[in-house]
Amino acid sequence: MIRSKQIERPKLVLVVDDHEINRDALGAILEDDYSIIYAGDGKEALEQMHRYEDELSMVLLDLNMPVMNGYEVMEYMQGDELLRDIPIIVLTADKNAELKALQMGAADFITKPFDIPEVIVARVGGLMERSDGKKLISAAEHDRVTGLYTRNFFFEYAGRLYKYHPDMHMDAVVVDIEQFHTINALNGRDFGNELLRTIGDGIRAFLSETEGIASRIEADRFEIYCLGQPDYQVLLDRLQDKASCLSQKVSIHLRMGVMPWRCGVDPVLMFDQARAACNLVRGDYKNPLMIYDEEMRRRELLNQRLLNDLNDAARDFQLKVYYQPKYDVQTDPPRLRSAEALIRWVHPELGMISPGDFIPLFEGNGLISIVDSFVWSEAARQILRWEEKYGYRIPVSVNLSRADIFDPTLLERLERLIRDNGLDFKDIKLEVTESAYTDKGMDLLEIVRRLRELGFEIEMDDFGSGYSSLNMLSDMPIDVLKMDMKFIRNIESSETDMQLVRLILDIAKYLRLRVVAEGVETRGQLSLLKNAGCDLVQGFYFSRPLPPEEFEALIEKDLAAARRETEA
Ligand code: C2E
Ligand code: MG
Ligand code: MG
Repeated sequence: MIRSKQIERPKLVLVVDDHEINRDALGAILEDDYSIIYAGDGKEALEQMHRYEDELSMVLLDLNMPVMNGYEVMEYMQGDELLRDIPIIVLTADKNAELKALQMGAADFITKPFDIPEVIVARVGGLMERSDGKKLISAAEHDRVTGLYTRNFFFEYAGRLYKYHPDMHMDAVVVDIEQFHTINALNGRDFGNELLRTIGDGIRAFLSETEGIASRIEADRFEIYCLGQPDYQVLLDRLQDKASCLSQKVSIHLRMGVMPWRCGVDPVLMFDQARAACNLVRGDYKNPLMIYDEEMRRRELLNQRLLNDLNDAARDFQLKVYYQPKYDVQTDPPRLRSAEALIRWVHPELGMISPGDFIPLFEGNGLISIVDSFVWSEAARQILRWEEKYGYRIPVSVNLSRADIFDPTLLERLERLIRDNGLDFKDIKLEVTESAYTDKGMDLLEIVRRLRELGFEIEMDDFGSGYSSLNMLSDMPIDVLKMDMKFIRNIESSETDMQLVRLILDIAKYLRLRVVAEGVETRGQLSLLKNAGCDLVQGFYFSRPLPPEEFEALIEKDLAAARRETEA
């Protein structure tokens, strides 16, 4: 049987515009490929639609028209079973109007004055192909749980908005739920879904007041592309309130990252940066909002650079260990008892980089172990060099990071360090920051306890900066408390601060822990601490951290004091 080749009829397109000149222009551009019908206002447009409702493939719709405007037409079409699925391209000169049109179901827009004809043909053709007679934003473009756009659709749209209106001030906003998997696990998926829906509703309510689009990108991450807002805390509070209202039992915390519009940055990059901002406040329930700014941008570039350069640094001896002395202040004069090893990175181009700038970065990805191993072995060698030169061992404290503590080979590494260098465990002290102890649910305490049983002296660093309660102290495997420098800063002017220091000293004495005061900068602070019974002091008052050669001047001065003591 010979089947006659079906001749496809050209698709029917309705052009709606109150200006004849616009209708003519579009007609001329499209008439080669489509059959065109026209309407001069909204009312006429609806009449045409009903007349051709079975055949109509697309509507090109002006927004500003007399009698019935484009929005009203779209609203009517939304409510009409037969017209709902006809794809609409909005014709507009007003960028802000596009988003609203999009929310009302428009699938694309053509800007006025009209783009070059090829662009219009391509866009109409593209939409025709994608929609295949159906409306572009169909159910498949929506997330089933929240009703927000799907990821692909969202980015396609954001990308298009950006492409045609790169100067429209759209911000990228990311909203994340803290510990969503735990919330799901503890309260069931239904509750989890209800939470997602609630946040989705909140975002939709927000978008009904401003221009923008939103999507649920991943399980618990929402992304919003919206006109710049003066204060995102307002939005975050709104969403947080709605979420908190869901349950009295479950504590829900949202966090938000925002990348404000910047000329020439496309939405994909903007959302990368908004996400980076959002990740920076992960777990920070006090300040859950982060706006990406110049500082963060600089930071990110620097981080990238440092991550790339670390291997060179280790190889080219750019990493240096400095030493800061700890003095016993209960003797007169104060005597040098030990030193803390502190890493410095002397970068060939960036100069001296302080550990505050790279330690947290390397802690985040485990690279810190490279740095710490280097510091430990360097410290061990330095102890031996000084022993050779001065005839005695000056104990050195090294800092352990959280990543070290969770390294299963930690004990072995440290034992080997001591053994290979012929040192005693008491020659190297370990500083573990307080915040590591307050990491719940980990067997960290057990690991520290075993290090202590091996013979290492354990110092709790930055005590008072975190949230460990005083009554937990008695159970912790520690020998020394290093009081955080924020306690010391104001003891000369604030009696309350001084009382707090006395309290800590009392408790430490009761628990038989020695105390190091960190960050002591003035003679006044020193004498207050000495009188209150503090054992050891570390700080700029005595010395900044020094390279080992310079540290030797302190050793020699101390040896001289020792000699005077024995002579006296
Ligand atoms: P930290 O262990 O609490 O070290 C004390 C910090 O306070 C050092 O900063 C030191 O230079 C500074 N400091 C000492 N005295 C004073 C003072 O009187 N006034 C002021 N304002 N500051 C003082 P630094 O060397 O910049 O180190 C910062 C932090 O980086 C350290 O805090 C430690 O947590 C970490 N860190 C340093 N070196 C290493 C390392 O080798 N490994 C690991 N994991 N962390 C390290
Ligand atoms: Mg320390
Ligand atoms: Mg400290």
